[in-house]
Amino acid sequence: METAIRATSEIVRDYSRLFVNRGAYTLQSLRPHPESGRHCYFRPKAKGEGGELSLTAATIRRHLEGELTIGLYAINPSTQRSKWVAIDADYAGAMEDLLKLQYFLQEDKVEAALEMSKRGGHLWIFMERPALARECRIYIHNLALKLGVRIRGAGLAEGIEIFPKHDELGAGEFGNAIRGPLGIHRGANRRYWFYAADYDLGKQIAYLNRLRKLSEDQLQGFITGKTMPPEFDRKPSSSDNAAPFVHASGREFRILDHVGKVRKVGRNYVTQCPSCAEAGQDRSGDNLAISIEDPRKYICWAGCTKEMIRRAVGCPIPVRRSA
Ligand SMILES: [Zn+2]
Repeated sequence: METAIRATSEIVRDYSRLFVNRGAYTLQSLRPHPESGRHCYFRPKAKGEGGELSLTAATIRRHLEGELTIGLYAINPSTQRSKWVAIDADYAGAMEDLLKLQYFLQEDKVEAALEMSKRGGHLWIFMERPALARECRIYIHNLALKLGVRIRGAGLAEGIEIFPKHDELGAGEFGNAIRGPLGIHRGANRRYWFYAADYDLGKQIAYLNRLRKLSEDQLQGFITGKTMPPEFDRKPSSSDNAAPFVHASGREFRILDHVGKVRKVGRNYVTQCPSCAEAGQDRSGDNLAISIEDPRKYICWAGCTKEMIRRAVGCPIPVRRSA
């Protein structure tokens, strides 16, 4: 384990300017989950009855110094924009795909920074000014399809994941977070660096500062006449709208009807949490535990609420109308 990496206030400020889109963030658990052995991410709450915590310079410094590990959201909900696009790849052949993307981005005069990861890597593109998530997504999806780089989702279990994963967020939504670069990955217990600079916090940040940033004009030039490939065109989820949930059938909601393959672990079935899966998490498929004895009881170890899980499977809990 490395020791005594110090993040100056300039480094923290630059990091925030490069990466932070909104106050909300996630934290990687310091201890592995007792059953899965994985380090999950959760949204930190203030002590007591407090609401959600907002990212501060002090928290970023602790992340960079390796004391804790944050996840960063891709979209600022007040503008539907992001300061960056991150392409996550972690399958066999992932690195070839990322290098291919990096090469062809360079042909477009877009400098992308390649970050190591536990498996594969993350490729980061920074915007001169925050760009519309929708436009970023149109550009990268079309580029990947043109290059024959597989994109996860739309029936493919393996492929790159493109953050932002949504065109826009509805009220109260967060979208997806990605591990904040340059911190310690709790699962691997090590720090992952960007390849193209010395393994030193100051030099890494200086490298990221120097990268040519993508301008809005350039981006709009790339996507002129292009649309989102239909198979990846995710409609914004409308959690606030009354979902067509018909209760009249009298049939009870059964979570087992809505999840994939389950395994028996002790007194529970274990499977992928639909809500985590929607967020691109729980890849090892073991966050959701369902009681074998009483399958009406289920819990997500990463902290998804029953409301979140029900919404994710398309059966939101009906809102009771007050008389
Ligand atoms: Zn979950």
